[in-house]
Amino acid sequence: MGKIFIVKESDIKINEGLIDESEVEDQITNLEVAICRTFIEIYDLNDGFKGILSEEENRIFEFYKEILDDQTFFEEIKSLIKNERYSAEKAIYTCINKYIDEISKSNNEYIKQRIFDLNDIAKRLVRNISVSVADENGLKINEINSEQIMVLKELTPIIAASLAKKEVKGVVAEEGAGYFTHASIILRSTGIPAVNGIRMDEIEKFDGSPAIIDGSKGVVVANPSEAEIQDLKSGLSEKKQALKNGRNGAAACERKPVETADGYRIRLLANISSVKEFLVAKKLGVDGIGLVRTESLFINYKRIPDEKRQYLIYSKIAKDLDGKPVVIRTADIGGDKVPQALAINDQSLSRSARGIRRSLEHKTELVTQIRAIMRAGKFGKVFISFPMVDSIEQIMEVKRIIKDISDELAEKKGEPVNRIGIGTMVETAEAVKIIDEILNEVDFISIGTNDMLHQICEQSRKCSTLEMRSYLEPVFLQTLKHCLDKAAEKNKPACVCGEMATDPMAIVVLLGMGAKDLSMSPSYIENTCRFIRTIKLDEAKEAAQKALESQNLQEVKNMLSELTKNRM
Ligand code: PEP
Ligand code: MG
Repeated sequence: MGKIFIVKESDIKINEGLIDESEVEDQITNLEVAICRTFIEIYDLNDGFKGILSEEENRIFEFYKEILDDQTFFEEIKSLIKNERYSAEKAIYTCINKYIDEISKSNNEYIKQRIFDLNDIAKRLVRNISVSVADENGLKINEINSEQIMVLKELTPIIAASLAKKEVKGVVAEEGAGYFTHASIILRSTGIPAVNGIRMDEIEKFDGSPAIIDGSKGVVVANPSEAEIQDLKSGLSEKKQALKNGRNGAAACERKPVETADGYRIRLLANISSVKEFLVAKKLGVDGIGLVRTESLFINYKRIPDEKRQYLIYSKIAKDLDGKPVVIRTADIGGDKVPQALAINDQSLSRSARGIRRSLEHKTELVTQIRAIMRAGKFGKVFISFPMVDSIEQIMEVKRIIKDISDELAEKKGEPVNRIGIGTMVETAEAVKIIDEILNEVDFISIGTNDMLHQICEQSRKCSTLEMRSYLEPVFLQTLKHCLDKAAEKNKPACVCGEMATDPMAIVVLLGMGAKDLSMSPSYIENTCRFIRTIKLDEAKEAAQKALESQNLQEVKNMLSELTKNRM
């Protein structure tokens, strides 16, 4: 429930007020993400100035890096957030100003010069916390706060990311907020409901009015009556209880591995698109990262990230996972994933290729990314995967590229490079047809249920008008079962990614069909973990069999809703 806000072109304000206790953790995470981003920026700057500045002048960057690496300094900022309830931005400024005050008393000119640098660091950190990506990309969204339901003509993943950061109450869009769009996935991963298909000219007149938005039903009620508000409130208290149960489950998740009620081990991995999501996943004690959507690097930055920037991010993730696996997928650009950096317009996009097909048309970009991933391989259990594969030649070609890069890196270092596991997404209709050939060439597969569903149902991902839970269509389930069986036959791990793996009804069927690895947005890990512990493998197998033999979607839904009724 919030106030309708019709998005117009203007600026996002920085919140400088005191924060609530419940916001402390988030502010600290924002700070950590900002440090990471600023660190990468400084590396980039440093690189860019090499050969232009003198050695002496270049040393300035060492000062920046020292500050950003200084634990005491950041502990001080964190303590202001925790103890004084300062927002991260306010804490940064307070801390830096304290240092500046001390430095200004010094007689040493060199030290005094550092005031400018400290101010610059503060500005960079704050900008990396509060400037929205949408704003950086030239889109101006004004006066956003967490009480509002944002209404826009077209929602894109970039705007969704900045709205998620602002923790708005909900999002309503004429286009782009369909259940399976990436923009919606971003919002859902932060718990923000979205409703698609509401015409601007119909809702505009409610600007500033109170409203209720129900993401699961896809409705917006402007100026709700007292009875409608009461209905909403009673529904909410049930949800809160479910959430509380989920939280208890989370603590258990951290302590012991996830198993079904009869003791079968299931691995829960996270899909991530940002360092922030990575930090959340790590805290939840996931079994690894099943999917890094690297296109978000391309989408979120104004320019295509160079090898060093990518290498730094991938190595940080690999290192921080302490030996748990991470699957880094090369950029999946095209469809509804349009990076501004590439300046692709809608017209040329609809004609252009997506995923690995596009990457192979842009080899330099692809080679740069693969090299960064392979170099990061030395820091942990890194695997590489490729999106939207639809021919065996594509796999043979990327394997050749990997071999060449491996030889090149070994030659430079004079020693062999760690071999990293090679996998692929199975998410196109073609990939399903050639699954045997694919499995002969790769170490593992990730089944992308979002795209596969659209391909099997012959819909464009951007349209996204598929009914919720259409992944329970018997024909689609049979396709998934076929892929899982083939992988098991060839003894190759198969991880199920995509929104389907977050829905308890679908989880029962997936487990029953033999899935052992599920990868999902971190925000679903808690509930999934709790839910799996209530399911016996035998009952899941029986339910899967019934679902596969059902006549239609409704029959599957009825059967599964009965089975999962008191466990969600
Ligand atoms: C999928 O298609 O199911 C998937 C996991 O990939 P993405 O959602 O990033 O396209
Ligand atoms: Mg996909």
